[in-house]
Amino acid sequence: MSTHTIKKLDAAIRDIHDFPKEGIVFKDITPLLLQPDTFKLAISELIKTAAGQKVDKIIGIDARGFIFGAVVAHEMGIGFIPVRKLGKLPHDTESISYSLEYGEAEIEIHRDSILPGENVLIIDDLLATGGTAAATVQLVQRLGGNLIGASFLIELTFLNGREVLGKDVPIHSLLTY
Ligand code: AMP
Repeated sequence: MSTHTIKKLDAAIRDIHDFPKEGIVFKDITPLLLQPDTFKLAISELIKTAAGQKVDKIIGIDARGFIFGAVVAHEMGIGFIPVRKLGKLPHDTESISYSLEYGEAEIEIHRDSILPGENVLIIDDLLATGGTAAATVQLVQRLGGNLIGASFLIELTFLNGREVLGKDVPIHSLLTY
């Protein structure tokens, strides 16, 4: 990615201090969504992370992963799968609980969304501790999907999410902080 592209994406992300609680610097991607050319740039760079690979479906993680993942899927002409927080998906689901910094969370996927052997790419806005993405990886594996990678707009490297995901998952992040 060129320095110009990195600068353009970086300039469209706003730091909100002490949100949602004290000590957290929240990476607000809503300014980027308001700039059509920068939003387009983010999408095309996310698509490039899968260059040369056959991708059958995109998985987007609740909720900002839906914004980026759905557009990537639409642009690539492939299906989109939402991984949602517990209780939102209406059909048969596979679910998994995982630990957050404080407490537990649970996410779900529709069982019929991935066919065994299909190549899937996970998309989310941000890789922090990696808990959410690692749980999503497990859901993909349980359904017999072939995970080709996980791509993020932002990675907070100091939280070591990459290690939680493990070496078997190719990870791409457009911006690292
Ligand atoms: P984690 O499971 O810790 O990797 O957290 C991942 C999810 O939490 C991502 O989908 C982000 O949307 C959100 N998140 C965590 N930390 C931040 C942050 N500092 N700024 C914005 N979003 C965050």
